[in-house]
Amino acid sequence: MKVPVLIPRIFDHPHTYLSGKFDKLKPGSIVLVPFGSKKEIGVIWDKQEETNKNFKLKTILEKKPISFSKNLVKFVNWFSLYNLVPKGMVLKMFLGDESFFSKNSNFPVENKIKKKIKFNLNQEQKKCLSDINSFGDKFNVTLLQGVTGSGKTIVYFEKIKQNLKKNKQVLVLLPEIFLTNQFNQRFEEYFGFKPAIWHSKITKKNRRIIWQNIMNGKIKLIVGARSSLFLPFKNLGLIVVDEEHDSSYKQDEGIRYNARDMAISRAFIENIPILLSTSIPSLETYNNVKSKKYNFTKLEKRYKNFSLPNTEIVNLNLEKKNKNIWIDIKTLDLVKKYLEKKEQVLFFLNRRGYAPFMICKKCGLKLACPNCSIFLTFHKHINQAMCHHCGYKTKTKQKCKKTESNCDFQMYGPGVEKVFSELKQIFPEKRISILSSDFLSKKKETLNLLNDIEKNKINILVGTQLISKGFNFPNLNCIVVVDADFSGMGFDLRSTEKNIQLYNQLSGRAGRFSKDSLIIYQTFNPSDETLKNILQNQQEKFLEEEIYLRKEKKLPPFVRLIAFIISSKNEREGFLEAQKIKKSLSLLKNIDVMGPVTSPIFKIKNKYRTRLLLRSDNSIFIQKKIRRILKTINISKKIKLTVDVDPLNFS
Ligand SMILES: [Zn+2]
Ligand SMILES: [Zn+2]
Repeated sequence: MKVPVLIPRIFDHPHTYLSGKFDKLKPGSIVLVPFGSKKEIGVIWDKQEETNKNFKLKTILEKKPISFSKNLVKFVNWFSLYNLVPKGMVLKMFLGDESFFSKNSNFPVENKIKKKIKFNLNQEQKKCLSDINSFGDKFNVTLLQGVTGSGKTIVYFEKIKQNLKKNKQVLVLLPEIFLTNQFNQRFEEYFGFKPAIWHSKITKKNRRIIWQNIMNGKIKLIVGARSSLFLPFKNLGLIVVDEEHDSSYKQDEGIRYNARDMAISRAFIENIPILLSTSIPSLETYNNVKSKKYNFTKLEKRYKNFSLPNTEIVNLNLEKKNKNIWIDIKTLDLVKKYLEKKEQVLFFLNRRGYAPFMICKKCGLKLACPNCSIFLTFHKHINQAMCHHCGYKTKTKQKCKKTESNCDFQMYGPGVEKVFSELKQIFPEKRISILSSDFLSKKKETLNLLNDIEKNKINILVGTQLISKGFNFPNLNCIVVVDADFSGMGFDLRSTEKNIQLYNQLSGRAGRFSKDSLIIYQTFNPSDETLKNILQNQQEKFLEEEIYLRKEKKLPPFVRLIAFIISSKNEREGFLEAQKIKKSLSLLKNIDVMGPVTSPIFKIKNKYRTRLLLRSDNSIFIQKKIRRILKTINISKKIKLTVDVDPLNFS
């Protein structure tokens, strides 16, 4: 009998094999097949590929004792079509590596039960839970909204508990894996056992253990990053997407997809409920709640009823004397009060390194990356200049064009290391630490630092965006936003939305255990609209205005955008290919194709990047038609085409 087998490689269709002695093969059965001169794991697929060519068919070698569910096959098909990624590549993410099938792992499942701490839901939390329960156990999307510190986690923990009691599996998606340590602690206190954690950096062995025990249904609960969406759940009953608005759910490299949206698709296919949790929803989610596509429940009060932090604006235009000093005198006065009370202060700046620009005082050279079209950031702790796109590093000794000696670089703009050194000079006796990805390469260091912060051993913290993600620091009552600048984010149509989210999250970090907390915004643009919105804390109003703008400007969620990124070693070749692709796409009705244009960051890793942007009415499912067209285009081997459906990043 002929059977279709999908191979986890770049194919968008299954290959045909003979079933041989194996009967009872059905979609999802995992098999070993000869492929070229090798053997390959494949999966029996649901539809045969029609072909006129007459191949000599090969026979299946082995049937594995485990198999995927029919729903998983459906999900792969949908994922592939929606994101315009070959089916085989999606399957690859589910299959993991060879050892998953060869070695068996005995896993001490849900190990020792520890002492649980009793949590009691307050009135509001009880109401939210009963709302969620009333939406039923079949597919539905619910937005669980609540200000930071209102106790949303406990609400969904209760919902998870209900599922575990029914022996169902639960997946909790988190945007940032740094989050998981504090999260785990709360989790353990609540459930009395450790959840299984899944992200790209866990060991190969752990990967195998978790994969196999998800497959056999022994692991009931997974807390994970994006990639946990590709685990072979046996009996999934609930998905929770925490911080649903977070843009790190969007995978921007390799296979591009939005994990939040794909989690909703997976819940739909499994016919189970999905909870989206946030303090301010993304615009798409807000819009779906308004149009009643999603259910909605809200926690209005902050836990223990502490009010939100007070705010203060420091106008940098007025008080700045020295051009390269980033901490204002007025700020210092405010900050000192908190330090005197032995409370922590955070200086927030979303720029890694010491200075974002270096310019030679003598010849005017502005140090740029040789592989990418961006400037190098100076990193003081390694005494090198670094490219944040490709990781290129260089010593700052450069032969100067104007004189016989080396270039004499002046550093411009603030980075976390610069703020750190300013603070060190002002407060030599205080303990100051940087929380930035450059300084937290090892897990242990991170844990130690977090621990020190929690125990109030750190007085002043300097942090990048990392800090805004769900940490809970009991003594942190004052935050200084070093450079509140909303103008130049550039390549991201959602920069306003992102800023509102970011500062909202940031303000959630302060004063969770105090009535007297403060956020100071240092800015050159004190009358900026976004800043006003943030200060007024009128998120609803902001979302309404933004929705109006998006509609007006024909932007998502009111249209569908699909980006085509053509990268090539040769500038002209990439451009010509882009024109060719545009010509084919233009055959489609009811769409616009914009471009080709060069990317804002034209060169990355020595490849020139040209972009097309397709805009279509989102009432039609345009991907189906695009897939058909892409199959007919003969794309040059010299270029690489990446398709990005619902792009967030336009760089
Ligand atoms: Zn570079
Ligand atoms: Zn020079």
